[in-house]
Amino acid sequence: MNESRYEPIIGLEIHAELMTDAKMFCGCRVVDSVTAPPNSAVCPVCLGMPGMLPVINKRAVAFALRVALALNCTINQDNVFARKNYFYPDLPKSYQISQYELPLGINGWLDVTLENGATKRIGIRRVHLEEDTGKLTHLEGGGSLVDFNRSGVPLLEIVSEPVIHSGEEARAYGMKIRQILRYLGVNSGDMEKGVFRVEPNISLRPRGTTPFGKRTELKNLNSFRTLAEGTAYEIERQQKVLDAGKEVVQETRGWHEGRRETFSQRRKEEAEDYRYFPEPDLPPLHITEPLIQAAQAALPELPDARIGRYQAVGLSAYEARVIAEDKEVADWFDAAAALYPAPKTIANWLINELFRLLNEHKLSITQQKATPAMLVELLGLVERQTINNNSAKEVLGEMVVTGKAAAAIVAARGLAQISDEGHIRRVVEQVLADNADQVAAYHNGKVQLRGWFVGQIMRQLKGQGNPALVNQLLDEYL
Ligand SMILES: [Zn+2]
Repeated sequence: MNESRYEPIIGLEIHAELMTDAKMFCGCRVVDSVTAPPNSAVCPVCLGMPGMLPVINKRAVAFALRVALALNCTINQDNVFARKNYFYPDLPKSYQISQYELPLGINGWLDVTLENGATKRIGIRRVHLEEDTGKLTHLEGGGSLVDFNRSGVPLLEIVSEPVIHSGEEARAYGMKIRQILRYLGVNSGDMEKGVFRVEPNISLRPRGTTPFGKRTELKNLNSFRTLAEGTAYEIERQQKVLDAGKEVVQETRGWHEGRRETFSQRRKEEAEDYRYFPEPDLPPLHITEPLIQAAQAALPELPDARIGRYQAVGLSAYEARVIAEDKEVADWFDAAAALYPAPKTIANWLINELFRLLNEHKLSITQQKATPAMLVELLGLVERQTINNNSAKEVLGEMVVTGKAAAAIVAARGLAQISDEGHIRRVVEQVLADNADQVAAYHNGKVQLRGWFVGQIMRQLKGQGNPALVNQLLDEYL
């Protein structure tokens, strides 16, 4: 793509439902869009009945403020809600309450790490609050069903500057935003359920020129893979259109997962088509300076800060990033590291062993049963040479599933390390006596056989031999 004479210009619009208990402007509960019975969490306000008055959900404002601050935005202290007018069956009021001229946050930025390790700063144009629409289900034989459970759910819109140039950058930025929303505890990031939606708008322009080309907006991307893939597809499609001397049509396009291509959904309205005007039923929302300061002070440690802290205690950039990826994993690591003097050892066990077990059992860090304190107890047994490393891995494997303490598992499985010198000495003698040919070969210079001898001895000891003692005695005999 880089050799192309066109430069792709991409901006990302992200819609994230806020995990409040109630909806944005009424008392209805926010329910799971997949499991809750359709239209079971609705009232006259979110159904758009005439004469019903909306009331701003303060918690949604607090959540939005948290996000705007975490994304380094300037906060507009005076917010005005507006009506965005359009007709669509999922919108019972025929307008959506949103923020238009005075969004909550503006001029933010986010540093994103790309696959080649480089960091790119992506500007964030605005962060604003609005309400979600209902959900349409189109039936196979024609006709559509509408579920208003989602109607009025607090929705945050995060709009990037058009400074993204590839599907990979779009994906890195989208993933970082999702990670931060999860750290802030305001959104689950579940793209399959549509509570976190990423919509890139994509245009091409000849390299070296400044005006933007006609853009298309991509919808129904339900994973970061399809975000990257769909964006790359759209860049290539537009390039072919332009190369053929035609014009790109400004429109909304969907991603067809089966055919792995985009398709035209509807012609894109210009912003002025929406006829925004101030929402007369809501007072202006004033965000006081003390409120901003309190929200800033209450922000949790964010991923970049955490990665920096981990590298400062000796973890590699890779280890730091992998652990900080998920807040719950990072919290688990912090709890273990607080009980143990070597964070690097904790990181090794977490990344190499615990992650493998989580993967094998399809468990999350909070679902598995080994607590940080239990891992530290296990490491203590290894240090005191009660068990060796291999046995410790076996113990952790059971601990993750049963939540039993290390000492109990070691006792039940008879894993305690064999440090009885007389016992090991007899095994060494026996192995060497049984393999006289290899011993001769070793003495004739085939020194790599030493490792093989260790393996044979360990096998006789069922893997429980004290490795230092085994090596020491083997040296004595060889
Ligand atoms: Zn309602």
